[in-house]
Amino acid sequence: MRRLSLPENSALPQRDLHHQSGDDLTASRDIDGAYDLGQPREDALDDDAANEPTSRDELATLWRGAWPALTDEQIGLLIGYRDALRERNLHVNLTAVRDYPGIERRLILESLRLLPALEERIRQGNRVLDIGTGGGLPGMVLAISRPDLQFTLMDATGKKVQFVQDAAQQLGLDNVRPLHGRAEEIARDTGHRGQYRVAVARAVSSLPTLIELGLPFVMLGGYLVLPKGIDLNDELLAAEKAGKLVGGNVVDASILPDVGSSVETRLVVIEKVAPTPKTYPRRTGLPAHSPLGIAEKPERSKR
Ligand code: SAH
Repeated sequence: MRRLSLPENSALPQRDLHHQSGDDLTASRDIDGAYDLGQPREDALDDDAANEPTSRDELATLWRGAWPALTDEQIGLLIGYRDALRERNLHVNLTAVRDYPGIERRLILESLRLLPALEERIRQGNRVLDIGTGGGLPGMVLAISRPDLQFTLMDATGKKVQFVQDAAQQLGLDNVRPLHGRAEEIARDTGHRGQYRVAVARAVSSLPTLIELGLPFVMLGGYLVLPKGIDLNDELLAAEKAGKLVGGNVVDASILPDVGSSVETRLVVIEKVAPTPKTYPRRTGLPAHSPLGIAEKPERSKR
C-alpha cells in the first residue's frame, strides 16, 4: 500500500474532494486536537501480544452478529479497510484506536450496529452523509455494507479525507465521495443542504451541536442518526430545545441491542420535521462553543 506521510500543516493538492466555496478557515487544523507528531509508532505496537489480528472466521461471526447480511466479499473488504486504517494510522494520526481488536470492535463493529436503524429509514439509492468521518467511521463501514446507497464522507481535516479517498480507491468502492471542509460552511452549499436522507456522526460533538451542524443537510422527512453513550440526560434536553430551533424532533433514543461489543450505545434519532431556518448553522465554531439549547455562559472555554 502506498504510504502517505504528510508533514504537519502541509497543503494537500487541490482536488475535487476539497470543498471550494467560501473560506476554508481550518483546512489543515486538526479539529479534535490530535496532532501528528510525525513519528512512526510501529515499534511500540508490534511488540504488543494483544495486538494480533482476529481470524477471518471469528470476524465474520462477530460482525454478522450486528449485520447478518454481510457477504464473504464484504467481510474481505472490511478486513482490507481495517488493515489500511491501521497501516496509515502508524504514520498519520487518524484515530486514537490503534490496535487490531480496537479497530475490529470499537470502530468497525460499532459502525455495523447502526445498519438496522439505517435500513428502517432509507430507500435504495438514497444519499447518506457522515459528518466528521475522521478515518472513515462509520461511513466506510456503512458504504462497504450498503453498496446500494451513496455515501459522502466529510471531514475538516485534510489528511483524514485523503486517507478516505485512498482507501475507497484501494478497495474499489464507487459509492464513497470524500469531502474536505467544515460542516458550517458546506451546509450553505445548495449541492449539500437538504440533500441527504440520513446524516450520521460518531464521536464528533454533543447532541445540540450535531443537531445544528447536521440537520441542515437532511431533507424533510429524513433523519439524523447519532450513536452516543448511554448517560445522556442533560444532552437530550438540550437536543430537544435545539431541535425545535432547527426543525428537528427527537424520535428515538433507545439503547442498541448487545452484539458482544465493549461499549453500550444509545442511538439518538432526530427526524427533520420542518425546514431549517437560513441562520443555521451559525458561523464556524459557534455550534460547538455555544451549543443551542444550553444557557449562555460568560466564558467561552466550555466545550
Ligand atoms: N467519526 C470518526 C472521527 C471522530 S473525531 C470516528 O468515529 O472515529 C471527530 C472528527 O470530526 C475529526 O476528524 C474532526 O476533524 C471532525 N470535525 C469536527 N468538527 C467538524 C466540523 N465542524 N466540520 C467537519 N468536520 C468536523
